[in-house]
Amino acid sequence: KAPQAGTVAIDNNAAGAAVPVQQQHRRLEGKVAIVTGGARGIGEAIVRAFVRHGARVVIADIDDAAGEALAAALGGACCSYVHCDVSVEADVERAVGCCVARHGRLDVLCNNAGVLGRQAPPAGNGARSGGIASLDAAEFDRVLRVNTLGAALGMKHAARAMLQRRGGGGSGGTIVSVASVAGVLGGMGPHAYTASKHALVGLTKNAACELGEHGIRVNCVSPFGVATPMLVNAWRHGEDDQGGAPAPVRAEEVEKAEEMVRGLATLKGPTLRAGDIAEAALFLASDESGYISGHNLVVDGGVTTSRNVIG
Ligand code: NAD
Repeated sequence: KAPQAGTVAIDNNAAGAAVPVQQQHRRLEGKVAIVTGGARGIGEAIVRAFVRHGARVVIADIDDAAGEALAAALGGACCSYVHCDVSVEADVERAVGCCVARHGRLDVLCNNAGVLGRQAPPAGNGARSGGIASLDAAEFDRVLRVNTLGAALGMKHAARAMLQRRGGGGSGGTIVSVASVAGVLGGMGPHAYTASKHALVGLTKNAACELGEHGIRVNCVSPFGVATPMLVNAWRHGEDDQGGAPAPVRAEEVEKAEEMVRGLATLKGPTLRAGDIAEAALFLASDESGYISGHNLVVDGGVTTSRNVIG
């Protein structure tokens, strides 16, 4: 699928277009899912893939305009939007409550919302911008609150809804979080981001150990670089856009970001796209991965098996 001029084709994968799915091949038919940070970027691709595969999806995000527009484009019956800052527990509880009130259940939580964080200016004495000697405690806290606590709160309230349903004879449920190669290796991102994603991988393993006895599977997906607004903004300004309406991402910036990622990747040839991450999340969310739990599925073209490419 070719992107429209000046826009990002967020649904694409490395193999090309997102293809329509025949009814009998729908891998989430009848399931109900929440996707946090689903208004754009990787989350948008996950929302589109889940809906294409028969799920009813609630988008939980802070970008109300983009979230509502995406839900409307995908059709009110199978996709809706709820405002939810994942770092605020009352918002997370309300999002899960809205989903259960609307659809009667929750089968899949995808913890995708995340921020990269601001790079602190140099502290003097040779401390470089973004370096550990320039660490900004408030910003460190913000990044961990969204990326780690936000996912933990999602797990908490999703587990409550899933356990309640299981008491009524339902099947377990699955939780899939979007971590990062920065959750596996050092030198792949800012300090707070790296710490937050390592913590998310650990949290995934712990929750999998605990919830396994209830038939609930917990996994994560760890992407390498995808040319979303997060990555483009990072390479533009050295920071993310703090959520809300993003600065528009131009097609030429996406091409440049993709070219840089291709240059760093171990696997030569394909371009990693948001749709590739969505396919991995879809697999972990579906019954096809029914015996996989506590796993971190890296989608990195071999980068984490070969070397530390950035730091
Ligand atoms: P993005 O910035 O393009 O999109 C992030 C989405 O999350 C936006 O819709 C934003 O509004 C939402 N969001 C931000 N803060 C939120 C909050 N507090 N509560 C709810 N929603 C919030 O980013 P992306 O590249 O699509 O990243 C999605 C996930 O993938 C993140 O967890 C990110 O860390 C991870 N990731 C991205 C890359 C990459 O190269 N793009 C690589 C590895 C991991």
